[in-house]
Amino acid sequence: MSQKIAVVTGGTGGLGISMCQAMCDQGHKVIATYYPSDEMKAYAEDKQASLQTSGYDITLYPLDVTDFAGCQAFVSQLETDLGPIDILVNNAGITRDAPIKRMEADQWQAVIDTNLSSVFNMSKLVFEGMCERGWGRIVNISSLNGEKGQFGQANYAAAKAGIYGFTRSIAQEGARKGVTVNAISPGYIDTPMVRQVPEKVLNSIIEGIPVGRLGQPEEIARAVAFLTDEASGFITGTNLSINGGQYMS
Ligand code: NDP
Repeated sequence: MSQKIAVVTGGTGGLGISMCQAMCDQGHKVIATYYPSDEMKAYAEDKQASLQTSGYDITLYPLDVTDFAGCQAFVSQLETDLGPIDILVNNAGITRDAPIKRMEADQWQAVIDTNLSSVFNMSKLVFEGMCERGWGRIVNISSLNGEKGQFGQANYAAAKAGIYGFTRSIAQEGARKGVTVNAISPGYIDTPMVRQVPEKVLNSIIEGIPVGRLGQPEEIARAVAFLTDEASGFITGTNLSINGGQYMS
């Protein structure tokens, strides 16, 4: 497959790093975005340097995926610097958990903005160009909890479930233009996001996973590489659940 320009939003996070590595392994020029703060810049640069020592050359850009104008500026800058985006992985996400009686409107909005509106922001900005060039791949990272719901995560589950409708809709719009759009719904993966869960709760979660363990970031990354491959052009509008058998739909 010829070298493509691949963008992974939140690409320096727990899953994002593995996705970047998998795309580098595919031979692509990989861009990871990180949240534009001094703290995150330092963190992202550290990750970039450690990847570089193991032979992975990723390019960093700051990006707040909730800011449509910022996304426009990012896409336009990147296109000037490197060329048009061929592969987009909408991976950035946050949680702000609380049961509905204690969930504040700002917790709701932040999660919807970061996990769902971001997918619109970035997809809208790359989709037309992909269609015009006759090739593109978009992968939206949803969640097991978007499929089944989760106590204390009404905001997150709603945002992640919203991704399915969005994915299926623009998959139809891109289908005859060589652009595929798919979702991946990871279950519990061994990342800092999941390690924040109290140990007792995490152990009971693991007990409920039929394969008896957390997933590894590489097990999600390989699915991203698969769905974005040249040879995956007949796969569009689907959701790939990768959860160790925890939820079989
Ligand atoms: P991380 O928190 O490690 O990574 C999330 C990334 O999103 C971070 O790099 C973060 O950037 C970035 N991000 C957050 N807010 C913004 C924003 N406003 N603009 C730009 N970037 C932002 O989580 P994971 O790697 O674990 O999760 C990656 C994706 O996978 C998420 O969408 C998550 O919901 C989903 N997922 C994860 C599961 C898991 O088990 N880990 C299970 C199911 C789904 P920064 O660090 O710079 O702030």
